[in-house]
Amino acid sequence: DHDVDARSKVRKLLQLFQAICRKLMQVEEQGIRNVGRVDFEASKVLKNDPIYKKLGPIVGNIPGVEIGDEFHFRVELSIVGLHRPNQAGINTAKVNGVPVAISIVASGGYPNELSSSDELIYTGSGGKAGGNKEADDQKLERGNLALKNCIEAKTPVRVIHGFKGQSKVGQSRGKQTSTFVYDGLYEVVECWKEGPKGEMVFKYKLRRIAGQAELALHAVKVTRKSKVREGLCLSDISQGFERIPICVINTIDDMRPAPFRYITQVIYPPWYEEEPPAGCDCTNGCSDSIRCGCVVKNGGEIPFNFNGAIVEARPLIHECGPSCRCPPTCHNRVSQHGIKIPLEIFKTGQTGWGVRSLSSISSGSFICEYNGKLLEDEEAEKRQNDEYLFDIGDNYHDEELWKGLKSVVGVQSSTSSSKTMEGFTIDAAECGNVGRFINHSCSPNLYAQNVLWDHDDMRMPHVMFFALENIPPLQELTYHYNYKVGQVYDKNGEEKVKHCYCGASDCCGRLH
Ligand code: SAM
Repeated sequence: DHDVDARSKVRKLLQLFQAICRKLMQVEEQGIRNVGRVDFEASKVLKNDPIYKKLGPIVGNIPGVEIGDEFHFRVELSIVGLHRPNQAGINTAKVNGVPVAISIVASGGYPNELSSSDELIYTGSGGKAGGNKEADDQKLERGNLALKNCIEAKTPVRVIHGFKGQSKVGQSRGKQTSTFVYDGLYEVVECWKEGPKGEMVFKYKLRRIAGQAELALHAVKVTRKSKVREGLCLSDISQGFERIPICVINTIDDMRPAPFRYITQVIYPPWYEEEPPAGCDCTNGCSDSIRCGCVVKNGGEIPFNFNGAIVEARPLIHECGPSCRCPPTCHNRVSQHGIKIPLEIFKTGQTGWGVRSLSSISSGSFICEYNGKLLEDEEAEKRQNDEYLFDIGDNYHDEELWKGLKSVVGVQSSTSSSKTMEGFTIDAAECGNVGRFINHSCSPNLYAQNVLWDHDDMRMPHVMFFALENIPPLQELTYHYNYKVGQVYDKNGEEKVKHCYCGASDCCGRLH
């Protein structure tokens, strides 16, 4: 199917771009080389990759890009073909010989200031609006003319909102960050002049074309404003154990989640004696690939950016631990600090309870752990309830994604241990955390990363979820359960079949 293909291509392209950015940031942060503009450099690297194909200018929606999609770099808009110019707010193309605007970036303000009306007033470019004090009136040429021509040509304009934002996990700390959100197609309905001579600007009224999906940002705003949350079942399922309360929402029926014990740490088998790994001696920041024992264990690099984003998926990551001399703020301590994203549990249409976030999540951010009781595999197989089992192993690898790219980015391929992590399963049926509510998807937005920090036992690493891509608010969080279809059996050796209702366009139909 054409659309399925386009969507997965766009997502892969962006995932790759973001992975290159994180790698380049790591190169810069570790002082290997001065990269300069990470986004420009990453885009150059990407454009040399066979996965990248430059599309001609498109009028209307871009196949594979959906309303609500979020971007953190302006060049990403160009990469997916949503908006080509890196500076100009108006992207133009010729339709039947007439220049028209095909997309605009409406910048300024914060996400919560976005008007939820279907109308948008846009100011033309040039003149004093561009910050040039010497400038004169705006002229009816180029972008300004093209936008006006849309009224008669009746061609739609893609609208992308650009927001300023506080930096958050997964984005550069301290720096002014931005988020771009695709808002769908608008039509230009009016154009007029405003302001005195010498300061005249063009104004355009655009109206959102009816029948398009609503932006999640609007729904979040309503949620934040309302005193009583619709469908609220529980205000904090963690009962105060998490720093941020996790509420339970059900707007589908009157079910409540079945009781379980909320835990914020895994429960090891009674015979197991947890021993902290030998720590590093760094007091001046962990980064030295010779002297920091933890960096060495990670193949010579810190697996996280300074903003807390994981650089790349690996079979196993070693964070600094209790015996290390570095402080809690060490860049090599991320997932051990727990949940930082406002998560909530909600009743889905077809897959029971699920998990989503009230805020935007950027690619590489830590989400939560999969907590439960650690069982030996044989014991787990005997459990009546297999709904909440997580079989520890080598879960996800983005080697495919990285093939050949390391040399382009200018770093050695890191060799991290890929010893098989076998023998244990986490059971979250009786005790668990929010992680037990995350559903499977054939096209997931999270992945499970094995992490060691408070002990060195490779058989039972922590299972930590990280974002594979930028995730808009209210979008369900999912990971791939990694079951083998046709290879799950019950006690009597009968094949167990479970149908998948993830709803992904490329869903394979079965969980197992
Ligand atoms: N939905 C669960 C709940 O209500 O508690 C939370 C996830 S639990 C770890 C795993 C179970 O959720 C599965 O055994 C299955 O019943 C259901 N599930 C998860 N993903 C699914 C999917 N894509 N399609 C159908 N059922 C799914």
